[in-house]
Amino acid sequence: MAELSPMMKQYFKLKEQHKNHIMFFRLGDFYEMFFDDAILASKELELTLTGRDCGLEERAPMCGIPHHSSEGYVSRLVAKGYKVAICEQTQDANSVKGIVNREIVRVITPGTIIESSMLQDDKNNYIASVFIKDNNTAGVSFADISTGIVHTSHIHETDLSATIISQLSRFSPCEVIFNPKLLDFKDITLFLKNQLAASVDLIEQENFIEENTDNSLVNQFTQDYLDICAINDEPEIQASLMGLLAYLSTTQKRGIERLKTIDNYTHKQVMKLSPVTRANLELTQTMRTRDKKGTLLWVLDKTSTAMGKRLLRNFVEQPLINTIEISQRLNCVDTVVKDTLIRGEIIEKLSKISDIERLLTRIVYGNANPNEVYSLVSTIEQLPALKNAILTLNTKEWTDIASQLDLLEDVKDLVVSAINIDTPPTLKDGGVINAGYNQEVDELRHIITGGKGFLTELETKLKQETGIAKLKIGYNRVFGYYIEVTHHYLSLVPDTFIRKQTLANAERYITEELKLLESKILGANERLVVLERELFTQLLLEISQNSTRIQKTANCIANTDVFTSLASVAVKNNYTKPIVNNSDDLTIIEGRHPVVEQLLKDSMFVPNDTILDGKENKMLIITGPNMAGKSTYMRQTALIALMAQIGSFVPAKKCEMGVVDSIFTRVGASDDLSAGQSTFMVEMIEVAEILKYATRKSLVILDEIGRGTSTFDGMSIARSVVEHMVSEDVGLGCKTLFATHYHELTALQDLKGVKNYSIAVKKRGDDITFLRRIVKGPADDSYGIQVAKLAGVPECVIKRAKVVLLSLEKTAPDFKNAITQLDFDYIEEKENNKIPDEVLEKLRDLDVDILTPLEALNYLYEIKKSL
Ligand code: ATP
Repeated sequence: MAELSPMMKQYFKLKEQHKNHIMFFRLGDFYEMFFDDAILASKELELTLTGRDCGLEERAPMCGIPHHSSEGYVSRLVAKGYKVAICEQTQDANSVKGIVNREIVRVITPGTIIESSMLQDDKNNYIASVFIKDNNTAGVSFADISTGIVHTSHIHETDLSATIISQLSRFSPCEVIFNPKLLDFKDITLFLKNQLAASVDLIEQENFIEENTDNSLVNQFTQDYLDICAINDEPEIQASLMGLLAYLSTTQKRGIERLKTIDNYTHKQVMKLSPVTRANLELTQTMRTRDKKGTLLWVLDKTSTAMGKRLLRNFVEQPLINTIEISQRLNCVDTVVKDTLIRGEIIEKLSKISDIERLLTRIVYGNANPNEVYSLVSTIEQLPALKNAILTLNTKEWTDIASQLDLLEDVKDLVVSAINIDTPPTLKDGGVINAGYNQEVDELRHIITGGKGFLTELETKLKQETGIAKLKIGYNRVFGYYIEVTHHYLSLVPDTFIRKQTLANAERYITEELKLLESKILGANERLVVLERELFTQLLLEISQNSTRIQKTANCIANTDVFTSLASVAVKNNYTKPIVNNSDDLTIIEGRHPVVEQLLKDSMFVPNDTILDGKENKMLIITGPNMAGKSTYMRQTALIALMAQIGSFVPAKKCEMGVVDSIFTRVGASDDLSAGQSTFMVEMIEVAEILKYATRKSLVILDEIGRGTSTFDGMSIARSVVEHMVSEDVGLGCKTLFATHYHELTALQDLKGVKNYSIAVKKRGDDITFLRRIVKGPADDSYGIQVAKLAGVPECVIKRAKVVLLSLEKTAPDFKNAITQLDFDYIEEKENNKIPDEVLEKLRDLDVDILTPLEALNYLYEIKKSL
């Protein structure tokens, strides 16, 4: 350390507190990285690695980026999982002798980004804070710093891991902080490691306790607000919020004023969807490519604003289970479906609205640029017509939404008066503040523009006085204003000219008069840039004081956008309004798969009915060849139920359903080798989850069970699972669609509540045509060989397969009968092994402690005789 240059000493002092972060060290117009940071960043960002003298024998490895283009570089590093500490100069280099002061102003982590270029418009960017108290109790918080909201909940469950995993997959945070207790929960740590693509950080326990920190929930949110959100009696929620605030205050040095809204969803009920189900149903990303295209969100998203896009995603990720709330949403959509004219008008206005929710965050944190702030004006200009259009809809739901919308005219006036309509994007060169907004700005500008006139006047005067026709006055940053004379005219230069610089073919001079003029102009210029910055900061502060009104307006815009988008999709795709009640039935007439029907190019989608209820039609066993459409049919049923519960119209002629509390899916076989689980293990874990958590109100999709093991094993498991699900006394009673290639399982129709269905195919000779229609009764064949032929398996292999099949069928045991026969054997066995009541009674009365060995032996004889 002693040998290091002063600047490097400063560097190391700051770096010491940010060992795990890449430090962007501001040096003039550049951010420089040194030593290990430089080696790493030069690789990750493909920058040239150079060196800099640092006082040591060897030069310090160094690489750098221009500060004005830093966002792109930071976002690339953050996307790769690094955290970046931004170190700024906190003094004006010109006004300091020696080394300027520097401070870390912010640490940018995946969950604390606010810059629009680094964020996805259509997605909230959550950071999660998980506080686990004991084996059953926890508090979780999910904050989006870019929009200022934190969703938080208290959890008290016997299976804490499953609930926390489910919450994490619901919000899908990109950064997770947690207290040490979480390390005791292997399922959660495995989930964090293998399934959630998030940066994770263990935070010391004391950060979660209010007494140990400088932050307080009351300071951040106010006591009244905490009361309203019912946080006061929730110590685990408080702890998780404290941990979050502590982490944010170390990373966001400037404070987190924007984080003001708490959504305590402890008692808010939403449909339970496991991570597996979310993935299987392809709600927001496809399984294979992880794209939005091909998902339910892709079909439903016709929103016009970023705020609407984010809200719609939240709707899709969190379907409701309260019928009143669902009806309110459906009514909102219905009204806009029916009014084509207003729908068009609303969409037209929304299309001109920018992301004021995230802009507000940048305004509050002082990060917004002048152009962005001016964009508020065009958004606010749309509001009166938008409000009018909404009010014309004239329903209770829409009037409630409109009541949130504030016309924000005063905010618009403020911006229009302060910012120049042609404002440059940055404050660097001034020209941002409007003429007439501030007297001093106007005066300084007069001096500067007048000053330029003075310079031209002086130039003309000097030309006349000296007779040097090519004399000119110029400016550079090092010498300021100068008079330039080419060598050709040197003999004409008067004594009053003081030489400053010699060029190849010219000399540069100053005069007393020019120096005076210079200090006047330059002083004005410098002062103007500082003043404009101050006024702009002041303006941001004044706009920030209207945060609550702007946020409410943003909420109204988001809701309007989502309902209008759902209405547009409903009209375009010919959806109908579902009826959602509290019954046990699920009736879909002519239902279609919302995504597959959009993707089919050369054929029409064939609609199908689904009739499920809590009595005779609890489980539909669906058979049919591969590729017939079983999976599509089952998923369409799940998606229609889910769509109805987010408040969307559905692709069906008619849909009437009791609310579904959770959807479970067990679809296809996939290894999870990274988590150390084989195909069959994954399958059984999924089955176990369903049997553990499904209720009478759940909808279960089973696409094959037991295929990952031997036929007998698999069929036995499949059968006992079905029995367990439908049986009257122990059964779960949930509504289930079960697709299987085990034809033997169709014998289960004898169980109450089980019905056989199949997907129809037309067979002509060896060829089959898929009809895509679901019909009552089991399929007559598996058609495996025919499908193999369709897929192009060589004819000789097909022929041989037929021969093998014939011989196997001849020798195979009759599984169907075996299944039913098994029951009798099982019951008989149970009956035979029953211990007579009188023996049981004797045994109960027996006092073993006072029995002699002989008496005990006699006793045994007696019992044996009576059996
Ligand atoms: P496997 O048993 O091999 O999993 P499957 O019976 O589940 O097959 P699906 O994957 O559901 O078959 O369907 C195969 C293809 O058939 C779909 O990708 C889709 O293109 C088409 N399809 C399915 N259902 C319909 C329908 N109702 N109308 C039109 N096309 C359909």
